[in-house]
Amino acid sequence: MAGLRDKEPSTIFDKLMAGEIPADVVYEDDKVYAFKDISPAAPAHLLVIPKDRMNLSGIRKSSPEHIEILGRLLVTAGELANNKDLGFGDGARIVINDGPDGGQEVPHLHVHVLGGRAMTWPPG
Ligand code: AMP
Repeated sequence: MAGLRDKEPSTIFDKLMAGEIPADVVYEDDKVYAFKDISPAAPAHLLVIPKDRMNLSGIRKSSPEHIEILGRLLVTAGELANNKDLGFGDGARIVINDGPDGGQEVPHLHVHVLGGRAMTWPPG
């Protein structure tokens, strides 16, 4: 979990993974955890996170040691976006917000997987 390998405070996502607050979990393996966003911005809205934050409070903190986990997160995001039972249609918007300008609220890297409707561009 977040606290094992970095010095930044843990976040609500650690509480969620610890079962201290409820989560609608759609996928979990040894490295990755995926759950429904509590405030969905689209008919299907998932978050995919690394179980061990590994200093990845945000994508700008990434370095070569994160290549494997970043790949795992994106492959998982793509697989979940194929799942019609989760509300996805033909495509998805897969987003990582970073920092204040990027609209990031939770400092534990997370990949948003949005779908179930046509997205617009540019984002707001
Ligand atoms: P970001 O703004 O990119 O940091 O996204 C954080 C996301 O976490 C937002 O879309 C929130 O709705 C979502 N979120 C916050 N708390 C929870 C929670 N307890 N369960 C599920 N999603 C959450």
